[in-house]
Amino acid sequence: MDRGTIHKVIIIGSGPAGYTAALYAGRANLAPLMIDGGVGRGQEMLGAGGQLMITTEVENYPGFEHGIQGPDLMLVMRKQALRFGVQIVEDLVSRVDFSVRPFKVWVGETLYEAQTVIIATGASAKWIGLPEERPAWEGGLGGRGVSACATCDGFFFKGKEVAVVGGGDTAMEEAIYLTNHASKVHVVHRRDVLRASQIMQKRAFNNPKISFVWDSAVEHINDPAAGRVSSLTLRNTSTGELSDLPVQGIFVAIGHTPNTNLFVGQLELDETGYIKTTHDVRTSVHGVFAAGDVQDTEYRQAITAAGSGCMAAIQAERLLEEEA
Ligand code: FAD
Ligand code: NAP
Repeated sequence: MDRGTIHKVIIIGSGPAGYTAALYAGRANLAPLMIDGGVGRGQEMLGAGGQLMITTEVENYPGFEHGIQGPDLMLVMRKQALRFGVQIVEDLVSRVDFSVRPFKVWVGETLYEAQTVIIATGASAKWIGLPEERPAWEGGLGGRGVSACATCDGFFFKGKEVAVVGGGDTAMEEAIYLTNHASKVHVVHRRDVLRASQIMQKRAFNNPKISFVWDSAVEHINDPAAGRVSSLTLRNTSTGELSDLPVQGIFVAIGHTPNTNLFVGQLELDETGYIKTTHDVRTSVHGVFAAGDVQDTEYRQAITAAGSGCMAAIQAERLLEEEA
C-alpha cells in the first residue's frame, strides 16, 4: 500500500503529543504520516485521541476558559492537525526497525518508511481491574468519581471525602495533593507497610487530613447504578473480612505503564520502561524523537505532552533541513 514512499516524518500515537507534533510538522510542509492507535479500548487508553478520550471535564488545558470535555478537546486537535495535511492511518503500529534509516514502521503486514519518527504512544495508568473502573458509557464510574489523576480531577472533590489506593510515592503524592481540596483522604493499601520513600511517607503521616486503611483491597466501588461513588467495599487482606468505607471519590494510584513494548531493543529505555530522552526530546537513535507521557515520569499532563510534541516536530524539521 505504501510501497516506495519514504515519508519525512511518521508520528506514532494521537494524544496531545501526537496531534501537536502533526500540527507543527504539517505547517512545516513535512507532510506527516500519523498512525493514530485505531479504535479505542476504553480504560486501557489505547486508541485514537489517547488518554483524554476516557475523561470528562478538562479544566487545566489553556485556551478553554470554561473547560472542555476530553473527547471534544481531542476531536478539535485532530481537526486542527488535519487542516495542515496530516495523513492518518487508523490503526496500531505492530513492529518497528530503527536500526538503519529510513526507519521502518509496520502496521500488520504494511510497511511504512520514514527519515524521522516521532513516538507519542503515551502511558497507561494501571487499574485494579474492577468493572466499576470502566468509563461511564461502559456502565462503570470512570470519570464519575473514579480517577487515576489527582491533578486532573482533585478540584471536583472540594470538601468531600476521597480514597487513594496504593502505597508508593505516587499514592502519597496524590493523597497530599488531594488534601488541598478534599475534607479527608483515606489511603487504602493492601499491606501494612508503605513502599513509598521515607520522605514521602513522613509527609503523608504528618498530614492531619490523611488517614491510612491498612491490609485492605478494594472489592467493589459503589454505586454504578446511582451514577456516582458512594462508598468502597474493602476486603481485609489478612482476615478476608469485608467492610464499607464511605467516600465520594477514589483515586487509583498504583503506577503507570509506558506504552513502549514496541521499542524494547530498539531504543534505550529506563529501568521502568520509559523512553530515555534528552531535554530536547531526542532518543538514543539519531532521527527518532519521543514526546509526551511515553518519556515523562514526572508531569504527565496534556499541556506538557503537547509542548514536547511541538519540540519533537521542530527537532525533526531542523534535522531534515540540516540533511537536505
Ligand atoms: P496519550 O494521550 O496516552 O496518547 C497516546 C496515543 O498513542 C494514543 O492515541 C494511543 O492510541 C497511541 N498508541 C499507543 N500505542 C500505539 C501503537 N502501538 N501504535 C499506534 N498508536 C499507539 N491531563 C491534563 O492535563 N488535564 C486533565 O484534566 C487530565 N485528565 C486526565 C484524566 C484521565 C482519566 C487520565 C487517564 C489522564 C488525564 N490527564 C489529564 C493526563 C493526560 O491525559 C496525559 O498526560 C496526556 O494524554 C498524555 O498525552 P500523550 O500524547 O503523551 O499520550
Ligand atoms: P510503585 O512504587 O510501583 O508503587 C505501586 C504501589 O501500588 C505499591 O504500594 C503497590 O503495593 C500498589 N499496588 C500495585 N498494584 C496494585 C493492585 N493491583 N492493587 C492494589 N495496590 C497495588 O509505583 P509508583 O508509586 O507509581 O512509583 C513508581 C516510581 O516513580 C517509583 O520509583 C517512585 O519512587 C517514583 N515516584 C517518585 C515520586 C517522588 O519522588 N515525588 C513521585 C511519584 C513516583 P505493594 O507495595 O504491596 O507492592
